Amino acid sequence: MKKEKSVEDVHAYVKQVAEKRGWTLNPNTDGTLDMLVDGLRVYFNRIGYFNCPCRDSFEDMKIDRDICCPCDYAQPDIDEFGRCYCALFFGPKYDFSKPVEMISERRIEPDW
Ligand code: SF4
Repeated sequence: MKKEKSVEDVHAYVKQVAEKRGWTLNPNTDGTLDMLVDGLRVYFNRIGYFNCPCRDSFEDMKIDRDICCPCDYAQPDIDEFGRCYCALFFGPKYDFSKPVEMISERRIEPDW
């Protein structure tokens, strides 16, 4: 049984991911960072891994592997749009003075 994660644990995790990848975390001006961190925490404590907080989980690591945070789509989305699908991670040159626009889903959902 995996130990439950606290909000602080998940904040530390996403901070570490951002530092390692050279990304910037959502600045949390509107509470988005806190909401996404809590979504990751809830998924981890329910299914045992960090399923993307903006995507449904099949609750099967084999199927959800590509959407475990940081997902396989984060870097291509950051390269193309400056941010990941959920707007948790941003590229280092992102202009936060502009509104964060929706981006399309890059993932083709498995047909299980
Ligand atoms: S879209 Fe962002 S928050 Fe969602 S899994 Fe990918 S990197 Fe994590």
